[in-house]
Amino acid sequence: METAMDGGFARRARQFLPKSRGDKVAFAFLVVIIHLIFYFEQFRVLPEIYHEPCLASYIHTAFMVFVYINTVGNLFMMMNVDTTTGSHVLPSILKPGWHFCASCEANAPPRSFHCWECGTCILKRIHHCTFTGNCAAWANQRYYIVFLLYMSIGAVYTNIMNFDYVWDVMGGLTVTSILTMFAPLVMWIAGQAKAHTFFVSIMSMVCLIGGAFSLVLFYYHSKLTLLNRTVFEFNKRISDYDLGWQQNLEQAFGTRWQLVWLFPLLPSPLLGNGLEFPVNSDVSEAVKDM
Ligand SMILES: [Zn+2]
Ligand SMILES: [Zn+2]
Repeated sequence: METAMDGGFARRARQFLPKSRGDKVAFAFLVVIIHLIFYFEQFRVLPEIYHEPCLASYIHTAFMVFVYINTVGNLFMMMNVDTTTGSHVLPSILKPGWHFCASCEANAPPRSFHCWECGTCILKRIHHCTFTGNCAAWANQRYYIVFLLYMSIGAVYTNIMNFDYVWDVMGGLTVTSILTMFAPLVMWIAGQAKAHTFFVSIMSMVCLIGGAFSLVLFYYHSKLTLLNRTVFEFNKRISDYDLGWQQNLEQAFGTRWQLVWLFPLLPSPLLGNGLEFPVNSDVSEAVKDM
């Protein structure tokens, strides 16, 4: 029997939280790292650069809070939006371009695919993201791309901010500092690095590797968005839905596509219903000629 708690928040949380063990571990890692980096920059690095609070340090803090809110806010919204075909009444007759999903025992519209991690068909499924434990898709593409944008901005910012501080803590470019950077645990256990140096080297490596990963992902998904393609369509070189970059951005981010980067709760209604998508003139003319 379901309790009131189970019927409400807990059931909803079960829907959007990662389901597989691998996704749960990756998601927990992401959440811990985001908060650890925020703490590290705000309470370790910033006070080393500005010893006293001043206008510049307040501007840095305001910027970090802005990036943090947009990162976490878009991450939460990306996971919280229903991306499944289950949110629609699906036709019992197989329409042209649709396919039958044996797992869901239902007809699925064009561009939708069954996700084995999410356990259901996803509307305009772009790909399954292990770190968020959810699919990036028609309904949440806006939040996913803006989340990647702020992860990338945060990554570039933290690596620039860290440079002088990490250089000082590590004691410049020496054999010991290079070994501590690449094998901090070994150097700490061997007594060659202090606990503080160990922590700083771990944080700077996380910022470097995480930053490079975020930038690559953001570049790849920006390309997909500007071309209006899913990962499957990109790999198969399908360009039927490419309407030009401006319309493609409107398709992905909604009618207020220019403003979505400002705040995750800013409304930007999506075009269409996720079941049908406009195709470009090349495809519509080819259909006419048939
Ligand atoms: Zn399915
Ligand atoms: Zn998925």
